[in-house]
Amino acid sequence: MTDMPIRAVIAPVTPLQQNCTIVWCAKTKKAAVIDPGGEIPRLMKAIEDQGLTLEKIWITHGHMDHAGGAAELKRLTGVPIEGPHKDDQFWIDRIQESGEMYGIPEARIFVTDRWLDDGDVVTLGETQFEVLHCPGHTPGHVIFFHRQARFAQVGDVLFKGSIGRTDFPRGNHQDLLDAITGKLWPLGDDVQFVPGHGPMSTFGAERRSNPFVSDLAIEAMNVQGKDYEAPVNRSPG
Ligand SMILES: [Zn+2]
Ligand SMILES: [Zn+2]
Repeated sequence: MTDMPIRAVIAPVTPLQQNCTIVWCAKTKKAAVIDPGGEIPRLMKAIEDQGLTLEKIWITHGHMDHAGGAAELKRLTGVPIEGPHKDDQFWIDRIQESGEMYGIPEARIFVTDRWLDDGDVVTLGETQFEVLHCPGHTPGHVIFFHRQARFAQVGDVLFKGSIGRTDFPRGNHQDLLDAITGKLWPLGDDVQFVPGHGPMSTFGAERRSNPFVSDLAIEAMNVQGKDYEAPVNRSPG
């Protein structure tokens, strides 16, 4: 793994144990924090301990446990915020009130420096990540993919053994299924992903065993049509 272009550490934050990830370009030690939901002092200490220079703040979607600390991290470091897709503006607008509801009173609204869209590329040091727009959990959800490292941060699109909730305003179950099967699966079974909550997995493992989106579950849905009974979704995000 020593020739890998990137490295990553996961630092769960907030009472919702959201998987904030610090990724960096191995060559330049320039880092991005993906989804700084909160606990900014701890994240800044982790960046310093690793000898990294923060260059970017990347946001997968506008939920407060993923984005509630972005404004504070930008205020303290001056680095730009990239993401999510502009369709999540209405979620960003309510970060503060939902933070108060979910026990994250320090969560703050932020202003992004760059909305992201499907097919965009974001740079980090001398390397780059691809952006895919994956709506369904929220309409403006994006994921970050490093092709060479076979690594993705997928936020609340997909979890080990589950998928994102779609019972929020402007959530859409079919959009989510389409994003997972039409955008994530083609990236390759070998891709390791960090979900928004819980342990890492690979796309291949989820295609085999995820009760919501395994190849068998999708096939059963297609065969049974509206008679198909989906499992109950108890995912954390
Ligand atoms: Zn979440
Ligand atoms: Zn979410």
